[in-house]
Amino acid sequence: MPDPVRITFLGGLGEIGRNCACIEQDGRLLLLDCGLMFPDAEMLGVDLVLPDFTYLHDNADRVEACVLTHGHEDHAGGLSYLLRDLSFPIFGSALTLGLARNRIEEAGLLDRTELIPLADGERRRIGPFDCEFIPVTHSVPHGFATAFHTPQGVVLHSGDFKLDLTPVDGRVTDLARIGALARDPGIRLLLSDSTNAEEPGFAGTERSVGRVMRDLFRAHENRRIISACFASHIHRVQQIADAAVENGRVIATLGRSMATNVALAREMGLLAIPDEALVDIEEIRDLDPRMVCVISTGSQGEPMSALALMAAGENKWVRITEDDVVIISAHAIPGNEYDVNKVIDGLHRLGAEVVHAGIADVHVTGHAMQGELKTLLSVASPDYFIPVHGEFRHLRHHARLAIEMGVDDANVLLAEDGDVVEVTDDGVDFVDSVPAGYLYVDGIVGDVGTGVLRDRRLLSAEGVIVVVVTVDAHSGAILQGPEIITRGWVYAPEAEDLLEEARKHIVEGVAEAAVEGATDIETMKRHVRQSLGAFVKERTQRRPLILPVVMEV
Ligand SMILES: [Zn+2]
Ligand SMILES: [Zn+2]
Repeated sequence: MPDPVRITFLGGLGEIGRNCACIEQDGRLLLLDCGLMFPDAEMLGVDLVLPDFTYLHDNADRVEACVLTHGHEDHAGGLSYLLRDLSFPIFGSALTLGLARNRIEEAGLLDRTELIPLADGERRRIGPFDCEFIPVTHSVPHGFATAFHTPQGVVLHSGDFKLDLTPVDGRVTDLARIGALARDPGIRLLLSDSTNAEEPGFAGTERSVGRVMRDLFRAHENRRIISACFASHIHRVQQIADAAVENGRVIATLGRSMATNVALAREMGLLAIPDEALVDIEEIRDLDPRMVCVISTGSQGEPMSALALMAAGENKWVRITEDDVVIISAHAIPGNEYDVNKVIDGLHRLGAEVVHAGIADVHVTGHAMQGELKTLLSVASPDYFIPVHGEFRHLRHHARLAIEMGVDDANVLLAEDGDVVEVTDDGVDFVDSVPAGYLYVDGIVGDVGTGVLRDRRLLSAEGVIVVVVTVDAHSGAILQGPEIITRGWVYAPEAEDLLEEARKHIVEGVAEAAVEGATDIETMKRHVRQSLGAFVKERTQRRPLILPVVMEV
């Protein structure tokens, strides 16, 4: 009886982001992606969110390698953190490795990390794992679906994919190979991208954006054009560049990741922009604006990005005027809508014309919609199915699609972060769970924890009151103070009367403690907090954080 194969989901099942799973066989563990998630507005001061790596730390000596399906941050961005404590080689397409490399290098971990490139269609043994890398189309070039040929049959992971039949580079999703695997030896388990499982129909081809771009460039031949998109979306950059060159414009990149990725993709022969069409951003000032196209980062409205600075009138290289057309060639990722709107508004305020996905078809999704998801289910015809990559509602919709496509109801598993499933002779089932909470990263501090976040939310919503009072250690009588320092509750210079009343309540609190004969600091702090808290709540309907500082002499 062949050994079971285990799959552990560490992230990405229940949220968009921090995709991370491991597959285990013969006592070894292969990591499939290791991504990060961008924080939402509730996560104050948090830079990014990672998977909980406890399970990997506990099994560090069993980690064989990491396979990256593609180069997006939600799949590769967590590596530079995990690699601080663990060491293993990383496999991926040359472009994927090129995109992941910078971050690992910045973290100073490159010299002890081996990066091993994979070719389209390559079948390769990584430790005990027999893996096959199948080309898929997505919003970054050279992504893979991964087929694991295990003792328990083929486990196929779709990666992030769509079925673009006319991709810009002609490299289509290899459905024929998936079909061949489905016939022989058959696909035991399919794990597939659920991002667009609620969207009916088929995703548009990337080429359609090129046509829209060309039309926009022709329609605005008398104005400067600035276009923002994801720096890793090499095909989008290509199409913007093509439209610019066709119209006799030169191109300047703006934003560090745009410059780096354009250089990387040109070096690898994945992006064709003639040398003479590229100029440095410093040169555009001296050029006729009608002859210039700027390709910029910041399509998600990220506050310090090139585009956000333009919208705020603070970009060093580009001053927006009414002679500018700004094309935002992207969709706001959930959580970024507010920032994107602010940028669009700022650009309008400066007089620019702004073209975004709500106005013209300047963006298509990189993820399969229902028609494509059903096509994959039909071609792969798996025995078992687990939807991955999505919020819970996406996973649920995808599960329904699978049943509709003929996968046995009982063979569709709705797994979430932390679930461990096992593939055995008897089938696929849940067997265990592992820690899979959010790991919040704040600058270089590392994990800030939920307690810190709770305090930050309280501080941001209610403010803080610091009370300083000096008491006699024996009698509990106040010798100095109370002094009140407050931020975010009331504006102190305009609230003298209120603060005077507050002081009285603090004095009462201290006196109460003294009457009880309790002159220890902790008891006095508690009384101050209660007495002042009740007053503040009654008078201002607020619950600021109260920090009593009681000193005894
Ligand atoms: Zn992706
Ligand atoms: Zn993704």
